[in-house]
Order: sequence, then structure tokens, then C-alpha cells
Amino acid sequence: MSLRPERVLIDRATIQAKVAEMARAIEARHRHPEPLLVVSVLRGAVIFAADLMRELNLALSVEFVAVESYGSSTRSSGAVNITRDVTEDLDGRHVLLVEDIVDTGLTLRYLISHLKGKNPASLEVAVLLDKVARRQIEVKVDYTGFVIPDAFVVGYGLDYAGLYRNLPDVMVLGESAS
Ligand code: 5GP
Repeated sequence: MSLRPERVLIDRATIQAKVAEMARAIEARHRHPEPLLVVSVLRGAVIFAADLMRELNLALSVEFVAVESYGSSTRSSGAVNITRDVTEDLDGRHVLLVEDIVDTGLTLRYLISHLKGKNPASLEVAVLLDKVARRQIEVKVDYTGFVIPDAFVVGYGLDYAGLYRNLPDVMVLGESAS
């Protein structure tokens, strides 16, 4: 038995509509004159971040932070390591952290505290997918796309063993006989 994308959980049209809705909510809260600094988490959030940025009618620039979380291929252990930090100075900036999915909350908590340490003027968090039922620690998310059940998902930037990030829909991984 091997693990493969088995069924569509959220199709591309539903994702696009939600991304546009999230962009409107972000625009409504960002009325200050300074540009927004989008910090996208590598690698899973890049497709979401690219779509979200194109929807945002705001002056913005983009930065990337890469994290590695230890654990099995479908369960993170919560131990997080930053493998690539932002290079711009965050001091006094309005930052929007963009993440693909929040599960236990450990990765996001680590990232929020890491970025807060760089003294931004504001820090908000946008997450496409939220597995609320799996949360181990409370974490502040300002903009949530979809609350999803406890299933391992791939596509729209999310991978399994490095694959399936290019699928346009969010799909549930399941066992197939081959
Ligand atoms: P947390 O620290 O909240 O438990 O996990 C967050 C990280 O685990 C995400 O950034 C993502 O890399 C990974 N993750 C959690 N659930 C899933 C899932 O269903 N699919 C994929 N591809 N990654 C997940």
C-alpha cells in the first residue's frame, strides 16, 4: 500500500474565492501608509502567498522564512528549526506572516515569537487551512481560510515527501493498493 492523493477536499475555485475574501479582510485592516511586508513560510505557503499577494490591492513587499519541523512524514513533533531567516530589517514594519496550515500550533507559535523578537510595528497571521481539532497550544491567527478535519492533506503548496505541491486542489492523502 502506498499513500497517494485520494480525494479533493477543497477545489481550486473554492480556494480562489476564499483567497479573495481573505485579501478583502486584510485590506480593510491595513489602512496605514507604510507598505505591508508579507513573510511567506517556505515551502508550503508559497502558492497561497503568491495568490494572496496578487489579490491584495496594497503596497507590499515579500520576504521568506524557511522552517524545518522534525517528526514523521505526516506528523510533526513540534521541534522547529529555522533554516532560512528573513534578511530584511523588520523593525517598525507591518508584517503579515503567511502560512499554509496550522495543526498543533507549535510551528506557528515558534515563528510568531521569532518574528516578534525582530520588533515589527505589527504582526498579523494569515493561514489557509486550520486543523482546529489537533491544536495543542493556543495560537493567534488573524485570517483563516478553511477549518478542515484531521486528515493529512496535500496540494496547493502542501507536500507529502516533497511531492504534490503543484496540485491545484487541496486533496486528502489516502492509501492505494500499488
Ligand atoms: P504544527 O506545528 O501546527 O503541528 O504543524 C504545522 C506544519 O506541519 C505545517 O507548516 C506543515 O508543514 C505540516 N503539516 C501539518 N498538517 C499537514 C497536512 O495535513 N499536510 C501537509 N502537507 N503538511 C502538514
